[in-house]
Amino acid sequence: MAYKKVFPNHYHFPQRINRLGELAYNLWWAWNPSALRLFSELDRPLWDSLNHNPIAFLHKIDQKLLENAAKDSLYLDEYDSVMQQFDTYMNTKDTWCSREAPDALKGKVAYFSFEFGLHECMPFYAGGLGILSGDHLKEASDMGIPLVGVGFIYHQGYFVQKLTEDGWQETSYFHFNFEEMPIIALTDADGKPLTISVQLPDRKVYARTWMIQVGRIPLYLLDSNVEKNSPHDRHLTARLYSNDLEIRISQEILLGCGGVRLLKKLGEKPTVWHMNEGHSAFLTLERVHEMMKSGLSFDEAAAIVKKTNVFTTHTPVPAGNDQFPLWLIDKYFPVIWGELGLSREQFIELGKQTQSWGDTFSMPVLAIKLSESTNGVSELHGQVAREMWNFLWPDKKADDVPIGSITNGIHVNSWLARRMRLLFDRYLGVSWYDRMDDEELWKRIDLIPDLEMWDIRRHLKRKLINYAIESARMHWSSGKHQPSQVIAEGVLLDQYSLTIGFARRFATYKRANLILSDYERLLKIITREDMPVQLIFAGKAHPADEPGKLLIQQVYRAAKDPRSQGRIVFLEDYDLNIAHLMVQGVDVWVNTPRRPNEASGTSGMKAALNGTLNFSVLDGWWCEGYNGKNGWVVGSDKEYDDPNEQDKMDAESIYQILENEIIPLYYQTRTMGDLSEQWVAKIKESIRSCAPKFSTRRMLREYMQEMYLPTMQKEK
Ligand SMILES: *Cc1c(COP(=O)(O)O)cnc(C)c1O
Repeated sequence: MAYKKVFPNHYHFPQRINRLGELAYNLWWAWNPSALRLFSELDRPLWDSLNHNPIAFLHKIDQKLLENAAKDSLYLDEYDSVMQQFDTYMNTKDTWCSREAPDALKGKVAYFSFEFGLHECMPFYAGGLGILSGDHLKEASDMGIPLVGVGFIYHQGYFVQKLTEDGWQETSYFHFNFEEMPIIALTDADGKPLTISVQLPDRKVYARTWMIQVGRIPLYLLDSNVEKNSPHDRHLTARLYSNDLEIRISQEILLGCGGVRLLKKLGEKPTVWHMNEGHSAFLTLERVHEMMKSGLSFDEAAAIVKKTNVFTTHTPVPAGNDQFPLWLIDKYFPVIWGELGLSREQFIELGKQTQSWGDTFSMPVLAIKLSESTNGVSELHGQVAREMWNFLWPDKKADDVPIGSITNGIHVNSWLARRMRLLFDRYLGVSWYDRMDDEELWKRIDLIPDLEMWDIRRHLKRKLINYAIESARMHWSSGKHQPSQVIAEGVLLDQYSLTIGFARRFATYKRANLILSDYERLLKIITREDMPVQLIFAGKAHPADEPGKLLIQQVYRAAKDPRSQGRIVFLEDYDLNIAHLMVQGVDVWVNTPRRPNEASGTSGMKAALNGTLNFSVLDGWWCEGYNGKNGWVVGSDKEYDDPNEQDKMDAESIYQILENEIIPLYYQTRTMGDLSEQWVAKIKESIRSCAPKFSTRRMLREYMQEMYLPTMQKEK
């Protein structure tokens, strides 16, 4: 079936810069600072007020400013240079993939994920999983890997976080107008919205379809907000991660089955189906059903389909692994198990997980059973996953369970501060970006003069502090905030103090309050006049997670407490923008999950790349990243039976290392504003050791070599 992409086109650009609209519709700008500046330079306050959304920006910008730009030779030079880079990028045939894995060019990977975090102006993500999916697409684009993404577009997005005066998290929702976002509507050949449908009990649910162009990669998105659906069904894809299991199972049927149908309609013929987490595992059933239409039995079709499925599991935490009670399966699947020629028992067996309270239908189990290969997202998580899913291979010892690991990474151009990138350009050589996974290259980091590195670090810290102060100023001038709240938001931050950052989802296992557990000792540490320390927190708790919200409140109360002197701060509404400012701007990045629950974590990788030092539990990626010299470790790699004991030991370790190592090192040999040579030496060691290892470049190379290419070869 033919389809079209519809670009709303009601701009009146001056002819000379009329490709700005085209540029705005390709997220390539999101990881190319010079492209972003083509927008931001035109009207900085408007740009910031619209969450850096270039489409909304072009809708609202004063026509005069565009006309002026079209006559400004400096602007035009930049414009021409960006457009040329853009064209080269989009058209080149010389890519990593064409050089290193040319066979893959004949195949295609379909990458399914429940959330994609691509840019702050499109909050269709809740946390790390979404950011990873977004980075996966951006890197696939950079490397020239033939890949398409499939997911949801949520017309209310994840929620907006506001804290009450007492630090209680309140949630509100957006109501997006997709026409004001860099999102393209898909239509059929007649110009009608391209829709797909899936069967749910007693009704069909329809979804219309959208596309986000991520460099060379299309991301296809489903949206149930169409008139043909009942009001209830129109809301199916309104928000991420509903706690209502009926909504969840309906969403997952739509993503898995609907996603396969959409790709078929679009004429895409994937040769690898990558399930990023178990939410999309129903795609296996849809594919088997398709295949059975040519006369195969379930077992025959399943054996074929399995060869081209791969699955990545992302968390050992039970709440992250979707399981449905069997009554829901009985409600939603009788027709489907009939079509598949299975009995109820045979069907349930596909996803059966036995819990102390009875059997459930587990999405990861379905994904594992119908995938050729499964991986965890760090070496330690691979080991934890082999133990966790050992019951699926009752004859094997945990070590022999066929689940491997590919450690997560970050998309370097999306996370590296612009100034740091310019510094790397100067000292690592202009082609460093193409060689970023080469460890030899990063030895050149020593060529960077300490003072230049330090100047950029100070600049990035000032940027973060300015952001905090300006947000607090806005809240204050709204007349709705108390003075104590403005202080909790950071007006008393100081650019010379050692600054520690903690930002992530406020899930309890991440223990955001661990550093507060001996509050009196912490106060002593942070308020020393000669060596002051600031702590900046940010993060959202899932709207149904009451213990998570209590953690936020505890942090907020400490931030408002006069005894903390304005040195503990909570930034509201954590998002990709704040994530950038924080990982780049603080001096030390703290992560304190209860080991071994953090499958990988990626924010610490972003920090390391930008010269922020890690101080983290030996969990997830940091187990592989820490080398004794490039940061610090909270606690030890000991296994604990008693979580209270673990918390106590880890908290003690935080205080001791802060008091005896981190703070003295930062303030060593320096008066206000000067640099500590040993601190900068540690920064360089951290960049040198982490940058080549924890990029999506290295990660996607491994996916290609270990999963995609072998799968493509099997398919033939
Ligand atoms: C990187 C990132 C995450 C993941 O951070 P972790 O510390 O690995 O959990 C979550 N949210 C946002 C906005 C991020 O940028």
